[in-house]
Amino acid sequence: MAVVGPSRGGARGSMSVMQGAGQAVVTGAQSYYHPPPPSQDLQPDRPIGYGAFGVVWAVTDPRDGRRVALKKLPNVFQSLVSSKRVFRELKMLCFFKHENVLSAQDILQPPHLDFFQEIYVITELLQSDLHKIIVSPQHLSSDHIKVFLYQILRGLKYLHSARILHRDIKPGNLLVNSNCVLKICDFGLARVEEPDKTKLMTQEVVTQYYRAPEILMGARHYSAAVDVWSVGCIFGELLGRRILFQAQSPVLQLELITDLLGTPSLEDMRHACEGARTHMLRHRTKPPALSALYTLSSLATHEAVHLLCQMLVFDPDKRITVVDALAHPYLDEGRLRYHSCMCKCCYTTTNAMRQYTVDFEPVTQHTFDDLWEKKLTSIQQVKEEMHKFITEQLNSSRVPLCINPQSAAFKSFAR
Ligand SMILES: [Zn+2]
Repeated sequence: MAVVGPSRGGARGSMSVMQGAGQAVVTGAQSYYHPPPPSQDLQPDRPIGYGAFGVVWAVTDPRDGRRVALKKLPNVFQSLVSSKRVFRELKMLCFFKHENVLSAQDILQPPHLDFFQEIYVITELLQSDLHKIIVSPQHLSSDHIKVFLYQILRGLKYLHSARILHRDIKPGNLLVNSNCVLKICDFGLARVEEPDKTKLMTQEVVTQYYRAPEILMGARHYSAAVDVWSVGCIFGELLGRRILFQAQSPVLQLELITDLLGTPSLEDMRHACEGARTHMLRHRTKPPALSALYTLSSLATHEAVHLLCQMLVFDPDKRITVVDALAHPYLDEGRLRYHSCMCKCCYTTTNAMRQYTVDFEPVTQHTFDDLWEKKLTSIQQVKEEMHKFITEQLNSSRVPLCINPQSAAFKSFAR
């Protein structure tokens, strides 16, 4: 299976004319498009990941030969709920501007509204993710852990400043490139914080191993603290190279958590639903066993465990915030390393002096607005709005891209 676009005879028309243009999944959409000369190492288009909320492919951008990730947002117009969820994810991907948060570089040109069924987004391509790294035999030093944790928190600070809760922070959603730059991805479950504490929020969030105790205990309302809990679980997993709380069911998940933290006080369970609280009180009282965290590995130093214990706090109101976690001395070295050679916000001058940015962990200027969601009341309406939104996003200075349905790779993709 050959590659994308940069083949001769390329795009003298729209998609259908692209038959002769090789096996590329993505291709230029306009008649004036002249593909660049073939690059040296042509790599085939291939799937790189499957998640609950889409398939991701590694493809070549035919306009410049760069390797990028192509994500298909699935089941877009199945129901009003799913179409609004996809629209929200799409708007977020276009909103984000932060080094540690994955954002949309491009959206494929949609067909005419009558044929509009699928949405494809192009993002930066990162080779690996934290899950693959943790289960690999690759050595992880304390420097690795610090720089990863720093970047997770740096990205989350930005998201939380936009009032966005990610709600599915897990190692597989933290992409990593070969230089250890990390980006938070997959916003399929993300939503804007609910300021109204009486409003019911769904429990169907966060992969169980990383799910905060208040969600496990049926809290009707929860906050950005659920993401911090997930980061704590990942921090523990980085230190111990195994999942911190790996249980078979939500009830057993809570058991494992209380084995470590001890039985919570009534006060600490005030967000829980009545049934969960009663269940907890029926069991014998467990003492906390936090010193077990020192046995995770030799990398679990006093400083590391000190920070970890503040993330793994039962009561979400007493759990450390992302901003306070970033101020913990454990992360000083991670910050220094990141801004010395990995970031894009600082630079090295011609006389080899490093010019540091004034703001190491920037926040967004504007919060993410979700008022538009409330006005959408039918699938057709979402479809029209989304079509309009995508058309507006298309950068007029670049050739729009579209799917090449003749590509063998795409045919297997579609299957
Ligand atoms: Zn920097």
